[in-house]
Amino acid sequence: MKVMVTGGAGFIGSHIVDAMLAAGHDVCVVDDLSTGHRENVDARARIYDVDIRDEAALEAVFEQEKPEVISHQAAKANVRESMVRPVLYAEVNILGSLNLLEATRRHEVRKIIYASTGGAVYGDLEYVPADEAHPINPLDPYGASKHQVEHYLYIYGRHYGLDYTVLRYPNVYGPRQDPEGEAGVIAIWTGRMLKGRSTIVYGSGGQERDFVYVGDIARANVMALDKGGGEIINLGSSIGTSINEVFDLLQRYTGYTQERTHGPAKQGEVFRSFITHEKAERLLGWLPTVSLSEGLERTVDYFRR
Ligand code: NAD
Repeated sequence: MKVMVTGGAGFIGSHIVDAMLAAGHDVCVVDDLSTGHRENVDARARIYDVDIRDEAALEAVFEQEKPEVISHQAAKANVRESMVRPVLYAEVNILGSLNLLEATRRHEVRKIIYASTGGAVYGDLEYVPADEAHPINPLDPYGASKHQVEHYLYIYGRHYGLDYTVLRYPNVYGPRQDPEGEAGVIAIWTGRMLKGRSTIVYGSGGQERDFVYVGDIARANVMALDKGGGEIINLGSSIGTSINEVFDLLQRYTGYTQERTHGPAKQGEVFRSFITHEKAERLLGWLPTVSLSEGLERTVDYFRR
């Protein structure tokens, strides 16, 4: 199958490229390399350094590649930055995605698989694990922009017959995540522990998150090529893991000798956030397969190299 991965030079997108290639698909990448890196992309995939907001450049790629399916990962994905730059987040995440959707109308694209977020679209969780029927209440411009596109997909499905699957990701971690970034506590701590730098656990460390290894997320994208049409699907583990547990495992794998130190809790931080996997299991046959300890070991190995 001819697959286009937008954001394919980024953390998650580059693993999707690997998984698509391993499954025998023909892959091209559209990425403006704003947070992604060329080195992340397997040499067998063709890269187009194109901003999804650039309608003409995007059109030229569609003319050239004629993708059958798009795995749409390109986005601005930093919650804190979105509070400061809400217009930029709307431009890239909403208008950029609309550009892509419009291109699917002019070309024979069968399906879009869309990277959404369980962490940001549900807002404060009323119950855990949150399933797909949980109320949608994004608390920041990032979450709001990701959710908007879920609804545009519904509209394009309804009016133009475009098939789609929305995948709501939990806290994804693994090799190639940015250790200098704001989003991934695992990448940040791994980077700092390997350099012997200080680390801080904000609050008690009892707060729970839903950590799923990036390879499992990539595999779900491959499964969604021909399953889960017209559906919104959580890719959670259904289990909460405390931040302290993550710290202790990373400390062991990195050989970090400093004690765990705690700082003040972050204001407004949700205490327990994890999402379901049952619908993904039913519709895609997907379950996370990489345990946290195995995934963390692989991540530490990668950062060490
Ligand atoms: P990332 O920043 O590593 O990847 C995003 C990619 O998109 C980068 O390669 C970047 O260069 C590219 N990009 C950004 N703006 C672009 C533009 N205007 N045109 C073309 N390319 C552009 O982040 P990631 O963590 O790999 O996130 C991938 C997707 O998964 C995003 O859609 C994000 O919202 C979603 N997501 C991530 C997580 C997580 O835990 N990392 C959780 C939920 C959802």
